[in-house]
Amino acid sequence: MEVNGIVLSPDPRLRQECAPIEEITPQIEQLAQRMKDEMFANGGCGLAAPQIGELVQLVVIDVSYTSREDYDPFVLINPVIVEQSDTLAPSSEGCLSIPGISCEIERPDRVVVEAYDLDANLMRYEAEGDLFCVCLQHEIDHLHGMTMFERLKPAQRVHAMCQYQEALARGAKPGDTE
Ligand SMILES: [Zn+2]
Repeated sequence: MEVNGIVLSPDPRLRQECAPIEEITPQIEQLAQRMKDEMFANGGCGLAAPQIGELVQLVVIDVSYTSREDYDPFVLINPVIVEQSDTLAPSSEGCLSIPGISCEIERPDRVVVEAYDLDANLMRYEAEGDLFCVCLQHEIDHLHGMTMFERLKPAQRVHAMCQYQEALARGAKPGDTE
């Protein structure tokens, strides 16, 4: 199921392991551009390729834009978490693929991520205790078939899935969080 170009849970495409990108072709560049456009159109701060139905390891993130003028997402190709803290911190997360709800999820509060950019430079991103830190982990999860639901404890998961069903029934759209 797709709404406004975004694949919605429980679409099976969100539960697949995505393929690493072996070559940065014009098609990959176009995909990155499409993802930037879809993320902006839906008001997201991060988007992973499977969320628009492409099962490859590509992510775009911009946690700080306020308008089209300052919108300039990072493009992460084959991102890998190379370091993470043992300390966990909870935060409230939303997902364009799970509109209408937010979930409290505990994750490491510091990560270091390595990824290639569109010029095939190996980039290193360090984040601690902020939205960027959460977003990096949330989007990388998408590349391995994990959504917010899989990060919740079983009791929380049932509750969140019920809330989500109600949100869908109300007509929640990508970008709605509640
Ligand atoms: Zn998501």
